[in-house]
Amino acid sequence: MTGRKETIKSLTLGFISGDMQFIADAMLGRLARWMRFLGFDVLYFPDIPDNELVRIAREQDRRILTRDTRLVQRKGLSHPLLITANDPLEQLMEVFGSVKIIPVAPLSRCVKCNSPLAPINDKNEIADIVPEFVFLQHNDFLRCTECARIYWKGTHPDKFMEKIRDSMGKSR
Ligand SMILES: [Zn+2]
Repeated sequence: MTGRKETIKSLTLGFISGDMQFIADAMLGRLARWMRFLGFDVLYFPDIPDNELVRIAREQDRRILTRDTRLVQRKGLSHPLLITANDPLEQLMEVFGSVKIIPVAPLSRCVKCNSPLAPINDKNEIADIVPEFVFLQHNDFLRCTECARIYWKGTHPDKFMEKIRDSMGKSR
């Protein structure tokens, strides 16, 4: 494949790889939400004990994202990743630095609960749920298949992606 080296660290919009599943420790809530926003499958529980975190990671073959140096040394973990930065954007760059391809699919996963989003075919279904100006301005809406939270393609995703592209430029 020609050009593979160039594309390896670039944002691959719309591509999502099913084998890149993560579980974040209790310290990494913001990182988990940002990763979900980009389409990564990231489990996160604010009050999970370490043993439980390790058990789920082993059972579901998920990569642990943690700030705990002792946790990454546990046996039987699949490529645990120690996060050292405090800033969530820098933390995201640490994750990006550890994966071969960055599977970015914004608005594919619920930021709140990590479940997949599904398009809403008839927007009139949600006329009473979203603010009126949003309803009038947008035609494409998505709904979380689990918690029913509504998403739409507003300006926020573009600005967010811009911020990430900027950061990636800086880190190289
Ligand atoms: Zn949800």
